[in-house]
Amino acid sequence: MPAPKRKPATPAPSAPVANTRASKLEKLGLRSDMDLVLHLPLRYEDETEVVAIQQAGMMGTSVAQVEGVVTACDIQYRPRRQLIVTIADDSGQLVMRFLNFYGSQTKQLAVGTRVRARGEIRHGFFGAEVVHPNYKVVLEGAPLPDVLTPVYPAGEGLSQVFLRKAIADAMQHIEWRDTLSPAQLAAQQLMPFETAVRLLHNPPPEVDEHALEDRSHPAWVRMKFDELLAQQLSLKRAQVARRAKNARALPVIGQLSAAFLGTLPFSLTKAQQRVVAEISADLRASFPMQRLLQGDVGSGKTVVAALAAAQAIDSGYQAVLMAPTEILADQHFRKIAAWMEPLGVRVAWLTGSLKKKEKLASLAMIESGEAQLVIGTHALIQDSVQFAKLGLVIVDEQHRFGVGQRLALRNKTTSENGGNEAAEKSTVAVVPHQLMMSATPIPRTLAMTYYADLEISVIDELPPGRTPIVTRAVDQMRRDEVIERVHAAVQDGRQAYWVCPLIEESEALQLQTATETYAMLVEALPDLRVGLVHGRLKQAEKQEVMDAFSAGVCHVLVATTVIEVGVDVPNASLMVIEHAERFGLSQLHQLRGRVGRGSAASVCLLLYQSPLGYIAKQRLMTMRETTDGFEIARRDLEIRGPGEFLGARQSGQAMLRFADLTTDQWLVDRARDLAQTLLQDPTPANQATVSAHLARWLGGREDFLKV
Ligand code: ADP
Ligand code: MG
Repeated sequence: MPAPKRKPATPAPSAPVANTRASKLEKLGLRSDMDLVLHLPLRYEDETEVVAIQQAGMMGTSVAQVEGVVTACDIQYRPRRQLIVTIADDSGQLVMRFLNFYGSQTKQLAVGTRVRARGEIRHGFFGAEVVHPNYKVVLEGAPLPDVLTPVYPAGEGLSQVFLRKAIADAMQHIEWRDTLSPAQLAAQQLMPFETAVRLLHNPPPEVDEHALEDRSHPAWVRMKFDELLAQQLSLKRAQVARRAKNARALPVIGQLSAAFLGTLPFSLTKAQQRVVAEISADLRASFPMQRLLQGDVGSGKTVVAALAAAQAIDSGYQAVLMAPTEILADQHFRKIAAWMEPLGVRVAWLTGSLKKKEKLASLAMIESGEAQLVIGTHALIQDSVQFAKLGLVIVDEQHRFGVGQRLALRNKTTSENGGNEAAEKSTVAVVPHQLMMSATPIPRTLAMTYYADLEISVIDELPPGRTPIVTRAVDQMRRDEVIERVHAAVQDGRQAYWVCPLIEESEALQLQTATETYAMLVEALPDLRVGLVHGRLKQAEKQEVMDAFSAGVCHVLVATTVIEVGVDVPNASLMVIEHAERFGLSQLHQLRGRVGRGSAASVCLLLYQSPLGYIAKQRLMTMRETTDGFEIARRDLEIRGPGEFLGARQSGQAMLRFADLTTDQWLVDRARDLAQTLLQDPTPANQATVSAHLARWLGGREDFLKV
C-alpha cells in the first residue's frame, strides 16, 4: 500500500507518546512513536470480505465474516443466561450467541441495526449459529477494509481499536529512513525497513498469510534481523567499552591463597583447578573481568569464589560476595569465615536483618578497608555501603538477582576514586572485577546471544565420592510409604528435607501447606524431631531451625522454597518434594541438589497429584532420567522455549521480541557478522549506521544488556 508521506513533525525516535493512556502503553514498553511502530501484530483477521450467511462455514475455513440486519435480540435464561441475537441477509439468518455480555449490548444490537460479524459459523439443526462472534455495527454500504486487520499484543485497558489508531498515528510521525544502506540491504537480501513495517501492520489481502503467521515472510525476516543486529551491536560495543575501562589489576597469588589451599580438607577437582586458573588470569588484567561461573549444584563453586577473593585480598584489595537469601549468605559467611579467619583475614557481614549497631560496625569496617572480605545479601547495594578499595565483586546464584541489582553492586564507588573528584574526572572510573556464579546453566546458543560480553567458565565435574541420587515420582496417594521412607532414613542416621511448593497466587497458602505438612509429620513421626522453616520466620528463628538441622539435632526439615539455593547439609540424604508438578525444572534440580552431598546414597521423591498435565509429565520424566544440570537446562529450553527460559529478569528489557533462537539461528550468525564488520571498520558511514540502528531498536535500554 502506498504510504502517505509526510514530513516528520518531530525528530522522532524518542518523541513521547502524547496520550492519556500513555501509562498503559508504557506497561507494554511503548514510550515513543518508534516503539509503537515496532509493536507488531501477533496475528491478523481477514475482514476484507463478506460472505452470504448461507455460504458461511460451507467453505474451507469455518471462520467467516457476514453482514446482516438484526431481526431479534433477546436475553434467554435457560439453560443459562445468554444473549441471543438473530441477524438476516438475503440468503438466510444467523443466530449469534453471547454467554458473557453487557446489558448495554441489547441496546446496541436493537432490531433493525446492521452488523458485521466474524466468527466460526456452524450450520446446525436450528440453522446457522455462531458463539461470541467479533462484530461491529455498520451503516449500509460501509466500505470493507482492503488489508488484513492486525491483532496486536495488548495490555489491560487497551483495545485493539485504540492500539491500531495509536500505531497508525505514530507511523505518520517517525523518521522512516532505513538504518542500512541499499548496498547492505542487497548484500543481506533484506526488504527495506519501511516496506516491511507497513506490510506487517497493513498486509494486503493477497499476502502469503501462512508466511506471516510463522514469521518466515521477508518482512518478518527484516524485523528479526534488525532486532538481532541491534542486540549484537550493543553487546559488542559493551565488550569494547569494558576492555577500555580500568580495573585494579589483582596480580598477587600469595600467602593467603597458598595457605587457604593448604587448609582445605580436600584437593580441588580438575575442573575447579581449570576455572580457578581462568579467573586468576582475568583478575591480573587491568580491565574488569566479567565472568560467569557455571557449575552444577554441588560442583564446588564456593571454594572457587573463595580463591578468587583470596587473590584480591593478597593483592591488597577488598572482595565482596553477595547471595540472594539470608540463609545462603549466612552459610557462606560461616563457611568462608571458618576457612579464612584463622588465616588472619577480616570478614564483615551485612544483611537487612542486622541490628543497627551491628550494621554500623560492619559499615565502618567496610569503609575503612579493615574488612578484607564482605559477605551479605542485597543489603550490600544500599547507598550507605561504601568500600575503601573494592577489587572484586562476586554474585552467587546470579540468576536470582535482577539486572538492576547486579549493576548496582558493580557500580559501587569506592572511596579511593570516589573521594577525589579531580581524579575521577581526569581518569576513567575504576570498576571492580565481577564474578557471577550460577547453577542454572544457560545453553551455549543462548549464552552467545544474550551474554556476548561475558566470559564463561564451566565446572563440568562433581567432587569425587558422591553417590548418584536416585529420583522417583510417587503419587501422593502413597504418602504413607513416603513417611516410612523418611523414618527409615533417620533410623540409619540420615536426615531428610520435605519441601512444600511455592504457590504463586498466595504466600499465605504456601505457608498453610507447610504448616499443615509439618503438623502431619510431627504426628506421624512422634519419635523424630521435625523442624519447620519458611519465609515468614524472623531471621533469627530461621537460623535456629537451620542450625539444629545442620547439627543433626533436627531430623526432618519441612521447608518452603527458602532452602532452594545453596544450603549445604551433607548428612541429609532424602529429599521429598510435595506437589512436584508445580515446580519448574530448574527449581526441582536445585532442590534435589540439597541431597547427594555426602557419601550416603541419596534419594529424591517427587510427590505428585494426578492427573498430570503434559508439561508436568515431561518435567518429572526429565528429573527421573538425568541429574546433569546441563541436560536439564537443555530439556527445559525445549519444553519452554527461550523466552520463558530466560525470563525478562535475566535478559533485561532487551529480550528478543521477534527473533526466535530455536528457528532463527541463521539470522543470528548473519547479524553477528554484520555487527562485526560495522564496528571493525568505523568509517563515518558505518558509525552513523550503528548509532541510528541502536537508537531505533534499543532507545535508552542499552544498559540492560551489559550485565
Ligand atoms: P555449589 O557449586 O552448589 O555452590 P558448594 O560450593 O556448596 O557447591 O560445594 C558443595 C560441597 O562440596 C561442599 O560441602 C564443599 O565443601 C564440597 N566440595 C567442594 N569442592 C570439593 C572437592 N574438590 N572435593 C571434595 N568436596 C568438595
Ligand atoms: Mg553454591
